[in-house]
Amino acid sequence: MKGICILGATGSIGVSTLDVVNRHPDQYKVIALTANNNVDVLYQQCLAFHPEYAVVVGEDKAAILKAKLADSPVADIQVLSGVKALEQVATLTNVDVVMAAIVGAAGLLPTLAAAKAGKTVLLANKEALVMSGDIFMQAVAESGATLLPIDSEHNAIFQCMPAGYVAGQTAKQARRILLTASGGPFRETPLEQLPTVTPAQAIAHPKWEMGKKISVDSATMMNKGLELIEACLLFNMAPDAIQVVIHKQSIIHSMVDYVDGSVLAQMGNPDMRTPIAHAMAYPERFDSGVAPLDIFAVRQMDFEQANLERFPCLRLAYQAIRAGGIMPTILNAANEIAVEAFLNEQVRFTDIAVIIEKTMAGFSAEKADTLEKVLAADQQARKVANQIIAGLS
Ligand code: NAD
Ligand code: MG
Repeated sequence: MKGICILGATGSIGVSTLDVVNRHPDQYKVIALTANNNVDVLYQQCLAFHPEYAVVVGEDKAAILKAKLADSPVADIQVLSGVKALEQVATLTNVDVVMAAIVGAAGLLPTLAAAKAGKTVLLANKEALVMSGDIFMQAVAESGATLLPIDSEHNAIFQCMPAGYVAGQTAKQARRILLTASGGPFRETPLEQLPTVTPAQAIAHPKWEMGKKISVDSATMMNKGLELIEACLLFNMAPDAIQVVIHKQSIIHSMVDYVDGSVLAQMGNPDMRTPIAHAMAYPERFDSGVAPLDIFAVRQMDFEQANLERFPCLRLAYQAIRAGGIMPTILNAANEIAVEAFLNEQVRFTDIAVIIEKTMAGFSAEKADTLEKVLAADQQARKVANQIIAGLS
């Protein structure tokens, strides 16, 4: 029986994780669930899974949850609040596995704490890895934590790696990674229409149902940019050995090209419960609830190059990882600010890349060898990005 802590339990990945947990009550016990503010969903999850701890970051909202639980059959659940509580529950001694499914930079400290505590870290929160890079990978190596990728592409790549492969190593006989992308909702939208697309159009993803932020990232293809950086770190590969491939059917979730000419692909229906179940059962396998792939219904698979004129965010991500140092941190921070401004209808869709490019131009790729430097770069980039946004309107 493994104890699991789900950071970001109320989000898209969190809910899918609990769906998988629910199928295997003999193997997983929920120890802690966390949310930013969504008390209603967290309350229902508390009733269904009876964790020891429930964390709500906002203090007022935590008080509401406490009051609701006091009158419930699960009144013994301890309710905690504040960001430090996230680290506390991610490092509890009876927690073996931590699902890192908070969105954005807010997930860095608890995810890093889990890695330092030597937990099995199931990593969905790509922003945490992108912004902290080598520091995160070093923490994993030093503590002996097990790092398993949840992002569907990285989980696919991991599954295509040689037996016994450990994240962070270089698989010497793998010469290239083919990182697949659906191309998002604007793959074929005429370029002149992109400045006027709305947040609602941007978050309507053709293949995956996800949180708002990652849905906008998929529309700009910054999601693939972050995934490129994530792949460089997880698989210790150079950016030039990673080729982005637009594959609109989203059936192949990525491929690894070996020196002997073999190309291994992992396929399946686009449902995050597959990579989640893979990581939760690893190195075994168990049921995820995902329907078997009907290969005859797929019929055809297409592959195209990504157009960097249509998707400047992808170009910026290549630029950031090639520059190295704090540049991926800057890219990520500027993107978070720009996406939020787009969702609040303060800036246009096409401004997102402009804001990130201008923010990056204000920094040089200084070393990112301490957490303090990374956090300072993150804060500084947010400030600069906000100034650029103020200048746009
Ligand atoms: P989501 O917006 O649906 O959920 C985010 C979760 O994080 C929620 O539980 C929310 O309460 C919590 N959260 C948000 N801000 C927080 C803060 N400041 N402090 C603490 N908690 C906070 O997002 P999602 O789609 O589930 O994505 C989660 C992560 O997984 C992201 O990093 C995303 O890139 C990655 N991911 C998601 C998918 C997917 O299919 N949804 C696929 C691959 C990777
Ligand atoms: Mg992905």
